[in-house]
Amino acid sequence: MLFSDVAEHFSKIEATASRLEMSAQIARLLSECKKEEIRPLIYIIEGNVAPAYEGLDIGIGEKFAIRAIAQTSGRSEREVLAEYKKAGDLGSAAEKLLSKKAQLSLASSQNTLMKAYHSFLKIAKLSGAGSQEAKISLLSELLNGATPLEARYLVRFCLGKLRLGVGDPSIIDALSMMKKGDKSDSEAILRAFNLCSDLGEVAEAYISGKSMAHFSAQPFKPIRPALAERLQSAEEIIEKIGKCAVEAKYDGLRMQVHACDGRVEIYSRKLEKMTHMFPEITSAALKLGTKSIIFEGEALAYNPKEKKYYSFQQTIQRKRKYGIDAMSKEFPLRLFVFDLLYLDGKDLTLERYSSRRAMLEKVFRNAEPLVPSEQIITDDPKRLEEYFNKLVGEGLEGIIAKDLNQPYVAGARKFAWIKLKKSYGELADTIDAVIVGYYLGKGQRKEFEFGGLLACVLNEETGKLETIAKIGSGFSEDEMVNLQKMLEEARLKERPKEVNSKLVPDFWVKPKYVITVAADEITLSPMHTCGMVGETGYALRFPRMISLRDDKGPEDITTTKEIMAMFEMQKKRRHD
Ligand code: ATP
Repeated sequence: MLFSDVAEHFSKIEATASRLEMSAQIARLLSECKKEEIRPLIYIIEGNVAPAYEGLDIGIGEKFAIRAIAQTSGRSEREVLAEYKKAGDLGSAAEKLLSKKAQLSLASSQNTLMKAYHSFLKIAKLSGAGSQEAKISLLSELLNGATPLEARYLVRFCLGKLRLGVGDPSIIDALSMMKKGDKSDSEAILRAFNLCSDLGEVAEAYISGKSMAHFSAQPFKPIRPALAERLQSAEEIIEKIGKCAVEAKYDGLRMQVHACDGRVEIYSRKLEKMTHMFPEITSAALKLGTKSIIFEGEALAYNPKEKKYYSFQQTIQRKRKYGIDAMSKEFPLRLFVFDLLYLDGKDLTLERYSSRRAMLEKVFRNAEPLVPSEQIITDDPKRLEEYFNKLVGEGLEGIIAKDLNQPYVAGARKFAWIKLKKSYGELADTIDAVIVGYYLGKGQRKEFEFGGLLACVLNEETGKLETIAKIGSGFSEDEMVNLQKMLEEARLKERPKEVNSKLVPDFWVKPKYVITVAADEITLSPMHTCGMVGETGYALRFPRMISLRDDKGPEDITTTKEIMAMFEMQKKRRHD
């Protein structure tokens, strides 16, 4: 397939607002591909050259892309820059400039999808001295053989700004639609994806007719994390799942540790590799005496002198301040292991929680700093509540109750795990929202170019980001300066396509920064689009930013459905 054909499809996808139509468009594109083109194409649609957990960034800076465009279009870098300023996007600038070029050079040949992919891969892998020059020449070569429309997407892709507005769920639906004409296989495909986090691999297997049921957990393929539902009382929890394990909810850093044949990798909640940051966890994992293992836990820094744990924020701050080595000596980490997903060649994700826990307790009996999470087993709401109060009294966030009979529910928020947190105002929980825009400072804040944030939650059904709050408080001066700098770099000329908003901030930004927000309550509002029916949506009353959440991406934020459930909980609480 030619990359120019891919580009034609991309421009249709980009112009589509409806999620279903978008999946149908992708299905059409996939059906024109050869089997071996499916995997690279899926990565490209995801904006990557490999599964995201490989961390292979394409990494061409704007400056270098400008140089490549100048070389190909026969314009000066200044002219390219001027066009960029006008268009607001370097991809569109390249498209415009190439369309003005009299004719393609005779030497140039058309780019196939595979050629483009291999060039992208090389660009991503190049590093060290002279690598920028080599990257520029690879991009120039692609641009030389490109149609103007193709240039738009080649440039955007190389800058890491493809922004088709397509999420993994839409790609999964597209795969099913391509083969079945409907979404009937989506669930099976999603399950396979949840187990290996590599949609390229899953798509290739699916298209080749392999059964999705054969996917299983494997070392060094991170498993998409299980998530907890919320309930608001001990009674409700026991009513829902009966006798259960009740564990401390540690406010630390979630880690998924894979170890096999002397190799260890540690993945974050977003499934990014962070092995190098935690040498003490790596060496402890190597000493477990298991052939292969995948386990999950929550890591907290520990001060042995004061016998004190630090929260996630403090742990991260300390790491930044002291560096990795000093940090691991002064404030060693302790990893509270709360699940075991794979052991000595066997996938355990379908085993009942109680059996997984029994094995976990054996493996981690004497494995400091890897220790089993603290827990009790009970079917008595009073006992659960006492335990909750004890933990909150000790400064913990709350508890997570676990259904003893459930498998590990990868990649989903289900009632296999239920969290009960100390409340924030009337709300049962804080909210994780993504920043989509910001306002300029007024009055006392005038000296900052920053006055507040526009934040969204995710409507999983439509794939849209819906506004829920304008946030003007919760930041210190330092945080404001920092936020302003970050957001300036993420500025966009227009509202991102996936954002559904009635409000228009002073600047739109690329939705990538996630923040935790506390509020007094959820109210109904005509201004916000979260869960909007007619003229009424949901909004946060007195929202304040608690912190940036580096460990979450925009696909991990609170969903509209969760907001609606929290609103119902709030109503119920008031009636009780
Ligand atoms: P929050 O924002 O409340 O920290 P979250 O959105 O990160 O939660 P949830 O699904 O709501 O994710 O809650 C599960 C999280 O709680 C896990 O991601 C994990 O990091 C953390 N956690 C702490 N202690 C435990 C535990 N004992 N068992 C499971 N998860 C735990």
